Amino acid sequence: MNRIANRKRILVTGGAGFLGSHLCDRLLADGHDVLCADNFYSGARDNVTHLLAHPHFELMRHDVTFPLYVEVDEIYNLACPASPIHYQRDPVQTTKTSVHGAINMLGLAKRTKARILQASTSEVYGDPEVHPQVEGYWGHVNPIGIRSCYDEGKRCAETLFFDYHRQHGVDIKVVRIFNTYGPRMHPNDGRVVSNFIVQALRGEDITLYGDGSQTRSFCYVDDLIEAFVRMMATPAGFVGPVNIGNPGEFTIRELAETVLRLVGGPSKLVFKPLPSDDPQQRRPDIGLARQHLGWEPRIALEPGLQRTIDYFRTLLAR
Ligand code: NAD
Ligand code: UDP
Ligand code: UDP
Repeated sequence: MNRIANRKRILVTGGAGFLGSHLCDRLLADGHDVLCADNFYSGARDNVTHLLAHPHFELMRHDVTFPLYVEVDEIYNLACPASPIHYQRDPVQTTKTSVHGAINMLGLAKRTKARILQASTSEVYGDPEVHPQVEGYWGHVNPIGIRSCYDEGKRCAETLFFDYHRQHGVDIKVVRIFNTYGPRMHPNDGRVVSNFIVQALRGEDITLYGDGSQTRSFCYVDDLIEAFVRMMATPAGFVGPVNIGNPGEFTIRELAETVLRLVGGPSKLVFKPLPSDDPQQRRPDIGLARQHLGWEPRIALEPGLQRTIDYFRTLLAR
């Protein structure tokens, strides 16, 4: 491709987080100018330090709940803590980040006529009564529980995206992300994949919440980033929402056993109380992504876990 001719100015909010930093890598590799805006609430400068010397990368400390005036062609709105321990630490700020953040980024998109993609979540389905989850399912969400700041904040952000689209003609894309894992998850992030791998590598007990029979579907980060970029490139009439995830479904106990087998070592499985409102099952129907993005995940759980284990082994040895 003619890199200069196709170069876009792209804003990635939450760009110093787990997914955002991989997205910045990919967009720079594709020849774009990347502005990364992050308040480092759950992300870290370390995730993007390798990019600081790149001539087309710019890092900005900014909280999306405040207005932002920049000139861009595309916006990926990822700012929001994703792990329950982080988003529950300051739940009011979590809702503000999703809702005020969406308003500001949509206002920015409206003024600059930028295309804007929202990183929504499978959590909009809550504890689902439809399985696997299709985009047409409206969800089963507790509005007043400890997960609500995240779930309802993300649902309201979707509402804002669709209303800015209908009312102001903003060019939107909405993806609903299912559990994604890989290198650069924070070792203390609290999410299940990083917890289990770090526990196994340290020879500590592996903490299963509840009886471990709840299920999740785990997508490797590289697959997810490919889907983001494809979604952004779809024709203007196609807005989503589109499920992005790996339809392989595993119980949390199966995940623990797989991690233990791959890492080896003396760790034992121990059982802790199940947090309230923890969804019992989750698996994406990815028919829409297959049809409109020509996408499906390529990296199965074991090879993806192995790459993630290699990353954490190196990190913990430092
Ligand atoms: P993460 O916590 O690693 O990244 C989120 C980033 O947003 C962090 O760098 C954080 O500092 C930043 N941030 C938080 N509040 C902000 C604010 N007010 N202003 C500016 N920056 C702010 O999480 P992640 O896994 O990389 O998730 C990225 C996005 O994808 C989130 O919106 C999350 O809800 C969504 N998502 C992720 C998953 C997953 O499994 N990883 C699943 C569903 C949805
Ligand atoms: N906004 C922003 N950057 C811009 C344009 C708008 O951060 O380039 C913010 C602005 O602060 C406003 C929000 O986006 O609060 C919504 O913008 P919109 O134009 O929809 O609303 P209005 O300015 O009319 O309240
Ligand atoms: N979980 C667990 N042990 C842990 C961390 C999480 O058993 O150390 C469980 C958690 O209760 C949930 C699943 O793993 O059922 C996925 O949790 P995570 O926080 O990664 O994501 P989410 O619940 O948002 O899908």
